[in-house]
Amino acid sequence: MNTASLQAFNTFGVDAQCSNLIKIYSEQDIYDTLLTYGAPYKVIGGGSNILLAGNIDATVLINEIKGIQVVDEDEKHVLVTVGGGENWHNLVLWSISHNLSGLQNLSLIPGSVGAAPIQNIGAYGVEQSQCFHSLRAISLTTGLTKVYYKEDCKFGYRDSIFKKVDAGKYIVTHVTYMLSKEVDINVSYGAIRTELTNRNIEMPTLKQISDVICDIRVSKLPDPLVVGNAGSFFKNPVVAEEVYESLLEKYPEIVAFPFGDLMKLSAGWLIDRAGWKGHSQNGAAVYKNHALVLVNDGTTSGGDIWQLAMDIQADVKAKYGVEIMPEVNVWG
Ligand SMILES: Cc1cc2nc3c(=O)[nH]c(=O)nc-3n(C[C@H](O)[C@H](O)[C@H](O)COP(=O)(O)OP(=O)(O)OC[C@H]3O[C@@H](n4cnc5c(N)ncnc54)[C@H](O)[C@@H]3O)c2cc1C
Repeated sequence: MNTASLQAFNTFGVDAQCSNLIKIYSEQDIYDTLLTYGAPYKVIGGGSNILLAGNIDATVLINEIKGIQVVDEDEKHVLVTVGGGENWHNLVLWSISHNLSGLQNLSLIPGSVGAAPIQNIGAYGVEQSQCFHSLRAISLTTGLTKVYYKEDCKFGYRDSIFKKVDAGKYIVTHVTYMLSKEVDINVSYGAIRTELTNRNIEMPTLKQISDVICDIRVSKLPDPLVVGNAGSFFKNPVVAEEVYESLLEKYPEIVAFPFGDLMKLSAGWLIDRAGWKGHSQNGAAVYKNHALVLVNDGTTSGGDIWQLAMDIQADVKAKYGVEIMPEVNVWG
């Protein structure tokens, strides 16, 4: 065992030890690791969606498999296969520079390509599932390779099969996206439309949409390089229409969106209304500009951040009868 610190490998910047830390540059590196080190294994890409609440009794594989390759195309589409360790925003920039549409609304989401399907990343009215074609993964128990097509992944809101029955079982080595040669834009999200209007842009290019989204994100979210965080800590809870109606009676200003036959409540609104925005305890805090984002306010222990999250969770449940669940993967 060669214990190693994971402090440099999570965007909360908290310290935790793991049993072994191995950087993976190829599929061969994975086979070698599985033969050399015993289970259990954990996979980290950019570490921007994990909270290390304690030490990790596992061999941690850091995915560094790179590469962006066009593997097929027709008149309308291009299939692009990307190494799981490639930076997500680099892929978005690559697609824009090749005038391929589909990923531009997902600009500046931190992390790796291999992690994008795990929680089906989404932003500004778009989810990666809309362009997803397939992925290649290696089982961490058998070492066998498996290809998952879109329907196999069971994508949902911040969800996939990799957060359910296949959670923790595979390392995603490559993801293939189908990008469009026709400019296909979605600027229905209010903040994008407003900002494009402010800039007098009527027919935006992919680059202009990406620039607007990057600017909005930078103005709203803390930069993990400056303030440790993992973006939205909680998922927006989805409730039955009757639950929403009774909350609406009590709180006419509640923020919610239709979600099929159900309603998705704004977790940020619930937390803010419960009085947590800006609250700090033991070096963990709720970001002053965004109640959904928990930040590292000087602690080195992920346990302090997890304690704050649990306190918020219990308070929201007591006040509104609604359970908010972490979007972030909590380990240790
Ligand atoms: C400032 C900020 C803003 C954010 N905004 C958004 C947003 O708008 N929308 C959104 O959806 N998310 C957002 N996130 C969350 C995060 O960027 C995404 O979840 C991203 O996909 C995480 O990538 P990662 O490589 O950092 O994953 P990690 O944090 O390294 O891992 C996350 C999970 O995926 C697993 N995993 C990682 N790589 C692999 C792999 N190759 N194979 C198998 N499992 C793997 C890990 O084991 C872990 O369970 C934000 C985060 C931050 C810090």
